[in-house]
Amino acid sequence: MIFDILTLFPGMFAAPLRESILGKAVERGLIQTRVHNIRDFAHDKHQVTDDRPFGGGDGMVMKPEPIVEALEFLGNIGPPPRIILLSPQGRLFNQRIARSLTQASRLILICGRYEGVDERVAEYFTDDQISIGDYVLTGGELAAMILVDAVSRLIPGVLGNCASTEEESFTKPLLEYPQYTRPQEFRGHRVPDILLSGHHEAINRWRRGQALLRTRQRRPDLFAQLHATPEDIDLLREIDGRPTEQP
Ligand code: SAM
Repeated sequence: MIFDILTLFPGMFAAPLRESILGKAVERGLIQTRVHNIRDFAHDKHQVTDDRPFGGGDGMVMKPEPIVEALEFLGNIGPPPRIILLSPQGRLFNQRIARSLTQASRLILICGRYEGVDERVAEYFTDDQISIGDYVLTGGELAAMILVDAVSRLIPGVLGNCASTEEESFTKPLLEYPQYTRPQEFRGHRVPDILLSGHHEAINRWRRGQALLRTRQRRPDLFAQLHATPEDIDLLREIDGRPTEQP
């Protein structure tokens, strides 16, 4: 998978793309990341990339020409891309979207700054707009890094262990069960005995119950999407004695 990132601040990407799992994925050629400075596509003497908003108002807006020229340049090198503008007004990013983006062989990510990008870029030159949450960042760079991270770890081979994305939160509309490691007792708090029992079936049942319970407590919106089985309902009743309201 190739990620082409368009930004006014290429330096922001150096460490996240070099370290840890992403760094290894780059080294092993499982992902390729190319960071392009939008300013390189501005042709005037001062390489201006922003201007005042038509109609007045605070702040500056990113001009369309350098971004679209960058897209045209990139369009000519490599496989056909899916072009994504990071925007707080885009569709809300989640695990399902991350998984669907792994189907693309190349993503171009446009990072806005200031008051955002001229609306014509969003309307006529992109395939998608994605928001990472209902809050406003100073720029799209952190949002792009989040997207690259979430998508990359779903690419086969990047995590090394394919099973590890199957069980985790959001793969189904369910949060993951709690995890523990050594020591068995830490400052008076013991690991649940069942996890030390070596009884795999009982451990799996306990984990399923905990995942159901914490999803119902913490994310009722997800829980409402879950098709809980009769065994799930029994399990929840066993754990907290409450009847389970299913939608
Ligand atoms: N004026 C815009 C608005 O109110 O919708 C906000 C612009 S924001 C300060 C500048 C840039 O940061 C945006 O163009 C976008 O690229 C990025 N950005 C900010 N918040 C974001 C979010 N939640 N998700 C994705 N990108 C975001």
